[in-house]
Amino acid sequence: MTGVYPGSFDPFTLGHKDIVERALKFCNTLYIAVSDNINKKHLFSKEERVEMIRQTFKGNDKIIVESFQGLLVDYMLAKKASFIIRGLRAVSDFEYEFQMAFTNRNLESSIETIFMVPGSQYLFLSSTIVRDIARNNGDISKLVPKPVLEKFKKIY
Ligand code: ADP
Repeated sequence: MTGVYPGSFDPFTLGHKDIVERALKFCNTLYIAVSDNINKKHLFSKEERVEMIRQTFKGNDKIIVESFQGLLVDYMLAKKASFIIRGLRAVSDFEYEFQMAFTNRNLESSIETIFMVPGSQYLFLSSTIVRDIARNNGDISKLVPKPVLEKFKKIY
């Protein structure tokens, strides 16, 4: 099956990577679809975020990393994908994720959302936490993949 893992990924963390690896257990092809979230102010451009994720999965031909604009369901129909992968960490994720799942279903009834839970070491990891630690010169080497770490080294 073909899945799409959408997100802002600003930046992509080991928590996101954990979800991707779990999704690959049942997806033959997984699109990682990078978008701008209008509720968030982004540190990295969409192009930079796509590039870091591509480097992270270099050589894995099951994974396709792209950016997209507009409605997720339209992007999915264009890719002939019917499953949205989203990660759930805590109850605090639930309300927003639930709302998005119903919104997408109302827009396109053929599309299903699959929620996945990361390894427990990533339950408290978010892109916001990574940005905050990095901005204050803390160690993020155990929180992000190597290409993201290298990128942060260049900017701070
Ligand atoms: P968005 O702005 O679309 O919420 P994010 O990049 O913040 O994009 O998150 C993308 C998806 O990954 C969301 O479903 C989010 O809940 C999930 N996610 C983020 N961090 C983690 C993590 N540490 N473990 C598991 N899932 C995560």
